[in-house]
Parts: sequence; C-alpha cells; structure tokens
Amino acid sequence: MIYKTVRVFVFLAVVVVVALLVRNLAAPKGPQLQSGFGGSRIVMGTFANITAVAADDKTIKASIDAAFEKLVEVDEMMSDYKAGSELSAVNRDAFAKPVKVSDELFEVLKASVDYSRKTQGAFDITVGPVVELWRRTEKDGTKPGEKELAQAKARVGYEKLILDEKNKTVRFAVESMKLDLGGIAKGYAIDLAIEEMKKAHAAGGLVDVGGDMRCFGASPKFDNIWRVGLEDPSGASRYLLVLKLSDAAIATSGDYRRFVMVDDKRYSHIIDPATTASAGELTSVTVIAARAMDADALATAVSVMGRTKGLQLIESIDNAEAIVIPADKKLELVKTSGADAYIRK
Ligand code: AMP
Ligand code: MG
Repeated sequence: MIYKTVRVFVFLAVVVVVALLVRNLAAPKGPQLQSGFGGSRIVMGTFANITAVAADDKTIKASIDAAFEKLVEVDEMMSDYKAGSELSAVNRDAFAKPVKVSDELFEVLKASVDYSRKTQGAFDITVGPVVELWRRTEKDGTKPGEKELAQAKARVGYEKLILDEKNKTVRFAVESMKLDLGGIAKGYAIDLAIEEMKKAHAAGGLVDVGGDMRCFGASPKFDNIWRVGLEDPSGASRYLLVLKLSDAAIATSGDYRRFVMVDDKRYSHIIDPATTASAGELTSVTVIAARAMDADALATAVSVMGRTKGLQLIESIDNAEAIVIPADKKLELVKTSGADAYIRK
C-alpha cells in the first residue's frame, strides 16, 4: 500500500515537472510586449500624440503620462504666448538686466545660437519682432509696412543675444528684442519626453507634436521600425510617401502648415531674418536626424535657405537627411543623397 502511494506521488511529481517544462519552453524569452496609444492632447498650440510599447498596461500608461507631463513643462518654460513663462520673463527684462534662466532654457538658447552660426543666420530665434508683425497680419490681413519691418529688423540678430554660460544668464544688447522659440522648442520637448519614456521603462515609443516626432526601440509591430507618413502639402488627405524610422526624429516645416493670406497670396510664418520677408521657396521641408531638436531647427533653417543652399547644408551634416517640395513645381520631391534609405519602397 505504501509503495502504491509513493508510486502515485512520483507519477504526480513527474507530471507537474513535465507540465512546468512545457510551459517554460512555450513561453517567449523576455517579457511579452504590447503597445498602447495615449490619445491626442493639445500641447504647444498643436496636437500631441504619444504611443508606447512596454511589457504591461501600467508601464505603458506611466510612460505616456510622464512624456505628456514633460511636454507641458517645456511649453510652460518656453512659450512666448504665455505671460508667465521663463521665456516671457527674458523678453520682458533681459535688456534692463541679465536674466537667470533654467538649465533647460539655457541649453535651448545655446543650441539656437549654434544653429544661427551653422546656417549663416537663417535660423535665428531673435526674429521675434518681425514674427510679431506677421502675426498682426494674421489678425487684420494687412501686410507689414517697409518702415515697421526696418525698425523690427534693427532688433533682430543672434549676435545681439548675450549668453553667460557660467552664470546661466541671458541679456539683450538692444532694447525691445524678442526671442521666439517656435522653430526649436517642440523638438527639444520631444527629446526630453522620449527620455522620460525610457526612464519609465518603455521598450519603445513615439512622441509626435504637430507632425514633428521622434521614435525609439520596439514599435507596435514589434520590429523596431516606426512607419511615418509624409503628408501631402496640397491639402489632399493622403500620404506622399512613408518613412521607416528606427531611433530617429523627423520635423516638417512649411508654408502649407501655417501661413497668412494677404490679397490671395500666401505668406509663410517662417521669416528670413536677413530680409524680414516670409520664406516662400519651399512648400514643405522634412528633415530626418537623430534628435528632434536638430531636425526641428534644421527644417526651419532649410525653409529659409531654400533648395540649393538648404540641401547643401544637410548633406554636410552627418546622419541628417532632407526631403523638400519646392513651391513652384507642386509635389516634386527633392532629396539629399541618403534620404532614400528611409523611404518605404
Ligand atoms: P517651424 O514650424 O519649426 O519651422 O517653426 C516656425 C516658427 O519658428 C515660426 O512660427 C516662428 O515662431 C519661428 N521662426 C520664424 N522664422 C524663424 C527663423 N528664421 N529662425 C528661427 N525661428 C523662426
Ligand atoms: Mg522647426
């Protein structure tokens, strides 16, 4: 009897061990991933969409929430629309006295000046006084006059922006200067939001703020490739092409996204700081780079520089590519030499 009981025990033990082995062999190595879309929220005056890939719902939600929080935080710091932002304090006080700023704002100001140098002044965040005049046009439909543009231009120029690296202060050399981070802050915010997602243990993610975006790691198809459509600037709701991105960023600038109409003519919200004219040669400029801040600033710069000089600049930068659409020949795509590698065939 006792032998029979032992035999039953041994038999049951073997069954349990075999069952456990089968289960372990069947289980995939590492955690099973799932993806989650965090929904659209309005941040930085546009729609932000965040997707996360992670082992469980909790991690997906936590990483999406952390990313949205960071976007809002950067907007609170760098918006020139918000009277209480750090940037607004700089714009108000920096001629009277040096204004101490956060490490984040200082980093963006420094990067902006670097981009001004790299682009011979095509990218210039001191363009604020001119942008302000064009914003008035948006409201009342009248083009800025020669005289007021000339007055505004006297307050533009990155060499008039005095940055003190040691004390993290900003000062204006000329009265009534105005900084506008509209061409770079979105990209910077996206980079920080991606860092937050990584810290929150997402295995992959994509942060999209108004069409500027960066992705990393595992994609919703779990193949590490994020497929991103490039919008048709003519207004038709279709994609001109699909880009395949892995751990990369893209930004698109162009007059089809934001513009003002005066006497049936379209004026871009991007300004050539050298002439104060609105940049009109390119309808759409998409730049691919490792960081969203670089893609963002470069896309704005290429819009000002135009097809020839702009594409030359991007060719000279490692790991950056551009796809542009000239305004004269609608929908003709002009690309840098390495751009095809990102385009889905
Ligand atoms: P984006 O959509 O990134 O090209 O940014 C365009 C915004 O950048 C404009 O709405 C202005 O706020 C600002 N901006 C306009 N012209 C310039 C320029 N030449 N350099 C830097 N920022 C600019
Ligand atoms: Mg930009």
